Amino acid sequence: MLVLDLWLARRTLMSERPELRTWACGSLLLLLGFLFVPMRLWIPLGPAILLSNTLLAMGMTFYGQAVYRFVLRKNLPRAGWVTFAGGLVLLTWMALHPVPYAYYSAMVSFWIALLQVSILRVLLREGWRAETSLRTVAITLVVCWAALVVRGVHALWVPECYADLMQPGWVQGLTLLMAFLAVIGTSFGFLLANFERTQRRMELLAAHDDLTGCYNRVTARTMLEHLLDRCRRERTPMALVLLDLDHFKRVNDEHGHLVGDLVLQRFSEAVRQRLRASDVFGRMGGEEFCIGLPLTDREGAIELAEDLRQTVEAMAVIGRNDQPLRVTVSAGVVAVGLAQLEDLSTTVELLYGGADDLLYRAKHLGRNRILVA
Ligand code: GH3
Ligand code: MG
Ligand code: MG
Repeated sequence: MLVLDLWLARRTLMSERPELRTWACGSLLLLLGFLFVPMRLWIPLGPAILLSNTLLAMGMTFYGQAVYRFVLRKNLPRAGWVTFAGGLVLLTWMALHPVPYAYYSAMVSFWIALLQVSILRVLLREGWRAETSLRTVAITLVVCWAALVVRGVHALWVPECYADLMQPGWVQGLTLLMAFLAVIGTSFGFLLANFERTQRRMELLAAHDDLTGCYNRVTARTMLEHLLDRCRRERTPMALVLLDLDHFKRVNDEHGHLVGDLVLQRFSEAVRQRLRASDVFGRMGGEEFCIGLPLTDREGAIELAEDLRQTVEAMAVIGRNDQPLRVTVSAGVVAVGLAQLEDLSTTVELLYGGADDLLYRAKHLGRNRILVA
């Protein structure tokens, strides 16, 4: 059921999550590995040990691959696969020779613990700062790793407790329990981490414009309202700048929509570079953008708008047939002083309307200019 849950979840998440499929395969292999342990009652001991432990180690290697892809977006390094293959060769050799069971137990415990080391390194270093659910995966794996190491050392220390593969004992029992809980605990943690990532992505998409990465209209409006409230509370000036690219329709007509999109991206990148983290930058529609500037007076807003106008004018984009293409921008700037902030009838709507009127006038006066209230 656990494997099925993981497998189905990968389809229901917004975009296909191959890491979940890999994790589901890993869980299946591990659970099959656990199933094969009691198989020694029915099949010869050598093949039973070889099969069950190979499945367990392979499952852990799949977990490693899933974690690397999820956290680092890279494949498991070759060292991971080499550790798996090396252990398999050693285990096969041991199965073909008369070796005390205690050595089997120690070897397999250290083998799987070794496979977990690189996974834990990624989870504790990079994964810890990524999705919070990955922390439960890391903690569960640390406990499982410690249990395996204890079992390995115990097997070498007190070999008589491992005279038979199924010999009962507290370390044996504890390790098996830990390993089984680790499969369930880490799987749910990994599943939650995938949901967490999907949710973050959905939040990002819901608040931002896909093409330019700016806030979308709805979010920008809300952020501007927060900005106005904050400036009113803290009695600090603010300004609003409304920008519209000039003759943008021509860009599309002459160079195509793809170039038009590229111009919008380059424009928003150039603007973003000039802004502070606290400024609100939103795409209000087509080629119209709005900037909310906290702690900014009239002079500061004019300087910024003029600077942006010149930056856009100097911006070179390669258009159709490698033709260079130049664009310009017009802007309406509204500065909000303390007196206006104290007046409760000053709303974002009103400021926006004021900036829009100025922008309209700037267009009529010949474009590529800024007008200030
Ligand atoms: P003005 O100087 O008066 O602003 O003229 P304009 O041509 O820039 O304005 P108009 O409103 O006539 O045309 C805006 C154009 O912007 C029309 C539309 O095709 C284009 N546009 C809107 N959104 C996008 C977009 O996401 N990508 C591209 N490539 N074009 C867009
Ligand atoms: Mg325009
Ligand atoms: Mg427009």
